[in-house]
Amino acid sequence: MISFDLSVEQRQLRELAEQVAREVYDPKAAQWDADRTVLPAEEVRRLPEEHGGSGGSLIDALIVIEELAKTCRPAAFQVFEANVGPARVIEFFGTGEQQKSILPRVVSGELTMAIGISEPDAGSAATDMRTRARLDGDEYVITGTKRWISNGGHADLYLLYCRLTDEPGSRGIGALIVPAGAPGLTFGERERLMGWRGIPSADLVFDEVRVPASNLVVAAGGFSKLFGVFSIERLGNATMSLAIGQAALDRTVRYVQERHQFGRPLVEFQNVHMTLADMRMQVEAARLLIYRAAAGAGQGLPVPLDVSLAKCFANEMAKRVSDAAIQLHGGNGYTEEYGIERLHRDAHGWAIAGGTPAIQRIRIASEMFGRRFDQRPTTVPA
Ligand SMILES: Cc1cc2nc3c(=O)[nH]c(=O)nc-3n(C[C@H](O)[C@H](O)[C@H](O)COP(=O)(O)OP(=O)(O)OC[C@H]3O[C@@H](n4cnc5c(N)ncnc54)[C@H](O)[C@@H]3O)c2cc1C
Repeated sequence: MISFDLSVEQRQLRELAEQVAREVYDPKAAQWDADRTVLPAEEVRRLPEEHGGSGGSLIDALIVIEELAKTCRPAAFQVFEANVGPARVIEFFGTGEQQKSILPRVVSGELTMAIGISEPDAGSAATDMRTRARLDGDEYVITGTKRWISNGGHADLYLLYCRLTDEPGSRGIGALIVPAGAPGLTFGERERLMGWRGIPSADLVFDEVRVPASNLVVAAGGFSKLFGVFSIERLGNATMSLAIGQAALDRTVRYVQERHQFGRPLVEFQNVHMTLADMRMQVEAARLLIYRAAAGAGQGLPVPLDVSLAKCFANEMAKRVSDAAIQLHGGNGYTEEYGIERLHRDAHGWAIAGGTPAIQRIRIASEMFGRRFDQRPTTVPA
């Protein structure tokens, strides 16, 4: 049987998260964005503790992320990192010791984790990464630079994707845990991003950083395992986009009833109906794609094709729907006061982070044809 309804408990979870977003974060979110304020430490601790780790399903986590993200993406990001972020790699592949020492503290908000995959010359082509960890006795020695790392310089631990052997492409890549205080690890200047202004982003620079060999999470050759779990993070990313689309729609529905032109509320104009109906269709379609992918996963891993369909559609939906919302708000939509431009700025960020829509489309085509389409030139241009 297919059910499209949330359970009673899930509806209660949604109401609780909606109440917290309204009472705690709505009054502060715009100011935090304007000042580029990083979420205060007490909020960073409180959010995962109160909204995660209760052994719920993936959908439960996404419900909470959506409600918080409609109002305040930086707050939602803390629940995102603890529930669908790098800690999940430790849950699936970490040693018993890593799981015991890290997971309860991530869930209680005591520890934060960020993920380091991208590099200056390896973005969409992640397997071009050059950051290298060589084994020296019972330690790994790491050298290289990671770029665009969300919470870079603020997280306590980094899940670092890096080269562990000299094998080319994905075959040499695995993952290590690196504590923020490891000697030789420094952070670049905080990036000045178009959106995501309460979520800091910086380079991680590794200069002969030593970590114990016991910090290995996934050995070389485990790149596809890592990306299997990254599917969970991609669904969290898609949910941030869903939240942006839904919030843009909700605000526009309110606005067109309040704003009058030509002696009538905007909602009386047929062109407004067409736009609102298109916005609604896109938001609902994104929600169904995300829920299908998450429902299929339960507490395990989602199907990568379902995730790519959901992420690609939701990312582009959020950009389109928030754009339409600006237009229907007229001049007010273009001001910071109404918060619609903030939704639109953030929407662009989610559509770049976690693999762009183009990369999701490549994945979708691969699944359709049952084969990999190599993106690299067969002969290297002179
Ligand atoms: C807000 C934000 C947060 C991020 N957080 C993190 C993080 O926490 N950790 C982390 O490791 N990384 C993070 N990233 C990095 C992100 O994963 C990369 O930016 C992304 O994968 C794209 O890489 P790139 O920026 O190098 O763009 P490029 O790979 O240079 O791509 C540029 C353009 O070319 C297109 N393109 C590239 N290859 C192809 C192809 N084969 N076919 C068609 N089109 C193609 C892309 O779709 C894109 O439109 C973040 C990025 C942003 C913006």
